[in-house]
Amino acid sequence: MPAAQNLTIDPQKLWDNLMDTAKFGGTPKGGIRRLTLSDDDKRVRDWFKAACEGLGCKVSVDAVGNMFAVRAGRNNTLLPIAMGSHLDTQPTGGKFDGVLGVLGALEAMRTLVQSGYETNAPIMIANWTNEEGSRYAPAMLCSGVYAGVFTPEYAYSREDRDGKKLGDELQRIGYRGTEPAGSHKFQAMFELHIEQGPILEAESRMIGVVTGVQGMRWYEVTVNGQESHTGATPMKLRKNALLGAARMIQAIHEVGMSHLPGVASVGLIENRPNSRNVVPGEVFFTVDLRHPDDAVLDKMEAAMRKALPEIAAAERLALDEKRIWNSPAVKFDPKLIACVRQGAEKAGYAMREMASGAGHDAAYIARVAPTTMIFVPCLGGISHNEAESTTLEECGAGAQVLLNAVLEYDRTLGS
Ligand SMILES: [Zn+2]
Repeated sequence: MPAAQNLTIDPQKLWDNLMDTAKFGGTPKGGIRRLTLSDDDKRVRDWFKAACEGLGCKVSVDAVGNMFAVRAGRNNTLLPIAMGSHLDTQPTGGKFDGVLGVLGALEAMRTLVQSGYETNAPIMIANWTNEEGSRYAPAMLCSGVYAGVFTPEYAYSREDRDGKKLGDELQRIGYRGTEPAGSHKFQAMFELHIEQGPILEAESRMIGVVTGVQGMRWYEVTVNGQESHTGATPMKLRKNALLGAARMIQAIHEVGMSHLPGVASVGLIENRPNSRNVVPGEVFFTVDLRHPDDAVLDKMEAAMRKALPEIAAAERLALDEKRIWNSPAVKFDPKLIACVRQGAEKAGYAMREMASGAGHDAAYIARVAPTTMIFVPCLGGISHNEAESTTLEECGAGAQVLLNAVLEYDRTLGS
């Protein structure tokens, strides 16, 4: 049997899988549009299942479509060590967000199988349903169900913009599994992911050793004024919902600027009736607040909740604001973080510790099992964009450190 330190992944094989599966939902600009539970999501799931079974793994699906592929270990009374991420993408997503974590895990698994290396514990790959949250809010929905944050019934009832329910779409593509959600236990999870920010690239480091995820909260805001004729309504008598929303968006930006490194964003806006000669009567927009410290996030929320009603009153508008999602700040497991650090050292990569700026399945999984993440750079820090780019070398480095970290952890379980 080969020694653990000699197990080397094949970056080219990983790259070929990334490029081959990018055709499921591939866009003309070189990105991927693979909304969760769409036909393209079904195609990539089928591909992934066949690839895992081809390696001799047993694949199962839980009640909310989470997929688990397990290779037996020497001691199968031990719970598996998991590697996982997601295969769904944004509407104009890139080729690496989430996908690298699943296909990097597949390459680590292939390396184990083809070398004949026997681990102490079983090794598992997880593909989590609806991480992106763009078709069905909230994001990280089904890793959340796994962790007991949401019930399966809540997940089933989520509707997309066309009124199609998540439960029905799961059924339609054949991925509403028989295993109860949360029943497929594992003892630890490592998630490989692109950084989605500019820090590693700016510092020329290959590996981010991720210590936690910042807290984040999502809100929905509706501003109501009065539709009226743009020509016949004097400026002083208008109740312009869009003007109020514009001032609110500015105020939300200031909330971010005054709580750095916190961030505050409005990314979705709907103006009604959106006609050139009608004073806007109703505007809907979303808010996304994030900070590594939940106590500061409380202050950001309070600042926003002070500013918005003041603006609404000044413009004589009605305001409806509600928080629809709260994901507290997460601290990852010290033992797993140490395994990643050792794994990166063995492979000889420059690294740094960092907190994740984005949300990930690992944030919910950390509530029920020791968890951590590994980051690799992405060009210009650009993600959630068809131009998202990470090199063959960077993808390979991530998969190698993933494998090394899993083996470091496995070594602590026996000889
Ligand atoms: Zn992702």
